[in-house]
Amino acid sequence: MAEKKITLSVIKADVGGFVGHSTIHPDLAKTAIKELEKAVSKKLLIDFHVTNCGDDVELIMTHWRGKDSSDIHELAWNTFKEATKVAQKLKLYGAGQDLLVDAFSGNVKGMGPGVAELEFLERKSEPVIVFMADKCSPGAWNLPLFRMFADPFCTPGLIIDKSMHDGFIFEVVDIHQNKVIKLSCPEQMYDLLMFIGSAENFMIYNVYRKTDGEVAAAASTQKLSLIAGQYVGKDDPVCVVRSQSGFPAVGEILEPFSFPHLVAGWTRGSHYGPLMPCTFKDATPSRLDGPPRVIAAGFQIAEGKLIGPRDMFADSIWDYTRNKTAEAAEYMRRHGPFEPHRLPLKEMEYTTMPQIMKKYESKFLSMDGSAKDKNKGKKITVTTETD
Ligand SMILES: [Mg+2]
Repeated sequence: MAEKKITLSVIKADVGGFVGHSTIHPDLAKTAIKELEKAVSKKLLIDFHVTNCGDDVELIMTHWRGKDSSDIHELAWNTFKEATKVAQKLKLYGAGQDLLVDAFSGNVKGMGPGVAELEFLERKSEPVIVFMADKCSPGAWNLPLFRMFADPFCTPGLIIDKSMHDGFIFEVVDIHQNKVIKLSCPEQMYDLLMFIGSAENFMIYNVYRKTDGEVAAAASTQKLSLIAGQYVGKDDPVCVVRSQSGFPAVGEILEPFSFPHLVAGWTRGSHYGPLMPCTFKDATPSRLDGPPRVIAAGFQIAEGKLIGPRDMFADSIWDYTRNKTAEAAEYMRRHGPFEPHRLPLKEMEYTTMPQIMKKYESKFLSMDGSAKDKNKGKKITVTTETD
């Protein structure tokens, strides 16, 4: 193998649901495969795999062009455009909904699709797990990534594997300020948790091995609502994790998903619900368009070729977690339109909530018993505990 870095790019978009938001139509996958086959024949890609999680088309691609390659991003954009044409013809739901701009301009980040990319020298054996989620925000990866790379109760390798014993560095994005910070574990663990515990505000972007700075994981952190300025769908993120030989074992990477933690998303992108690890076949959210799903596609990379995928949650041991997910989903659903099932007010900013507040702004009266409307004309500020 030449000493040249390969890049694994996972780029996804919802370009039309079948039926509603539950899955994709097979013709969308066929269209994407056709486009990416052309790219392989032109030697733009080494290899690819097309799949879906719920209503999102997922393009998993290997190439030599590095992260943020405009050629690769344009290929993904044009592939989604072609799939959108099919979605429009079939009148699929929300055709082209994640393509937020008319024309491609260099990089799909900020244009709607979600992106996670890793660039690395292929090892003697290079196992990777590609996680893809539907009906949730990128904050969904915070808890599992923390547990994989910083929690010895999940990952014994942090204690007993000397190449991991020094720990990992987490790169975290403040998605409102569009800034990043690197925090090192275990020594800055409590500080890290202060940030990433607020998963809708701070999201893990990359993870690096401390001993040599080698990249271990990358996650998509695009927030469509912040990009578009209005609600256009939940972000449905992807995350790529390298495994074994100095990184967590495959089992240590999957282990955090044995707990169906609550994530923001579910129906209308406005509810907390448990994240359900499921098989490729079962990534078809249907109970109130949920609960949120995650699939795990395992690959061995060989000379840039994607050997796989293996459906990593297709094991009956995960039935226990799936049953727990159903219980948690039922419990959360009983709250109906009440928090904490419904997202906090601040997260409802891109729904109809501001219009409702505005409509009643002048009708709020003072609490001193007088009928005098002291608030008339004053702007009502929505605050939450997180403000
Ligand atoms: Mg989706």
